Amino acid sequence: MPMPANDWSLETLAVRAGQMRSQFNEHSEALYLTSSFVFHNAAQAAARFSGAEEGMVYARFTNPTVTMMQSRLAVLEEAEACVATASGMAAIMSTVMALMKSGEHIVSSRSIFGATQQLFGTILARFGIETTYIDSTDSAAFAAALRPNTRLLFIETPSNPLTEVLDIAALAAVAHTGGVLLVVDNCFCSPALQQPLKLGADLVIHSATKYLDGQGRVLGGAVCGPKTLTDEVFKFLRTAGPAISPFNAWIILKGMETLLLRMKQQSANALELAQWLEQQPQVARVYYPGLSSHPQHALAMKQQSSGGAIVAFEVKGEREAAWRVVDNCRLLSITANLGDTKTTITHPASTTHGRISPEARAASGIKEGLLRIAVGLESPRDLEMDIERGLKA
Ligand SMILES: *Cc1c(COP(=O)(O)O)cnc(C)c1O
Repeated sequence: MPMPANDWSLETLAVRAGQMRSQFNEHSEALYLTSSFVFHNAAQAAARFSGAEEGMVYARFTNPTVTMMQSRLAVLEEAEACVATASGMAAIMSTVMALMKSGEHIVSSRSIFGATQQLFGTILARFGIETTYIDSTDSAAFAAALRPNTRLLFIETPSNPLTEVLDIAALAAVAHTGGVLLVVDNCFCSPALQQPLKLGADLVIHSATKYLDGQGRVLGGAVCGPKTLTDEVFKFLRTAGPAISPFNAWIILKGMETLLLRMKQQSANALELAQWLEQQPQVARVYYPGLSSHPQHALAMKQQSSGGAIVAFEVKGEREAAWRVVDNCRLLSITANLGDTKTTITHPASTTHGRISPEARAASGIKEGLLRIAVGLESPRDLEMDIERGLKA
């Protein structure tokens, strides 16, 4: 098993870290499609089950391909450990179920993924876990919402879809002063652009479905952080079962090899597109952390290595005008997914954020004219021509 050297750069680690070779010495990481593993004898079976001996048992909680994916992502996030899950939502659910109990409280930023809001607001609420949402990007607003029973401070930065940036280091200080864990959903940046643990976060959550796979193929998720915390998530996963399939883990493992290259190019394309959008008379406002017009541009450039690949913008003329842009696209794909090499366009108010109440949507600042573009690897000029058709229609 080649061990990564401490001084290797992220580029090298993305390709090399985590690999375990079998007796065949394969060059590319192997895909182990097996649900269980054979023991030499009864004593070994007992030792593996009790945990006295380390090793593979059953693919709900152990599989070599999944282990390789977890190790590679842990190295990229500079985390002590990583636990992979069936999806990003399974990662969030498993974290809450592993670390919280009934009667406890979450403080969360308001602009979080729609399904995460649903999970907190409708499902966890039924089990006695209450969530307070913070509309502000000001760390003091988070501090003021902490209660004695608060367990997690949950944030997404940049947020979906408005790309609001939260100060991870400042919020880590707020969380730790209050005896609370800071959990960061790092889906939009990936470790290629932002490493929240280095800024003081306690746990990083991933929807591996997005940039880690990077080609829109499979679902997956992960929780990264110190072993004391990820072990709790692992115990939940082992028993409750929201496990990732080895096939999906293999796709994500191989996807991470090109993560840094993709993020670099997709961010450059996004910046070019955002600058072009700002020049269009039909566009009221562009949200992109890489633009100097972004209210938190300085903070974004401090904690991220680029603006990322998500651009949101408001079209003048409400829903009708926004839908006209979507419906005139021939190149951009009309799909809610993001993090793909193929550029996608979404109308958040009627899709990803359609299930939340109009009041909550308004509080999140998601207007009817808003569109979100997840920029891929196509030429920005081709994307611009595609969007221009709808803007001018
Ligand atoms: C997609 C997404 C999730 C959920 O991930 P799934 O893999 O779809 O379950 C969570 N957070 C953010 C920011 C996302 O974009």
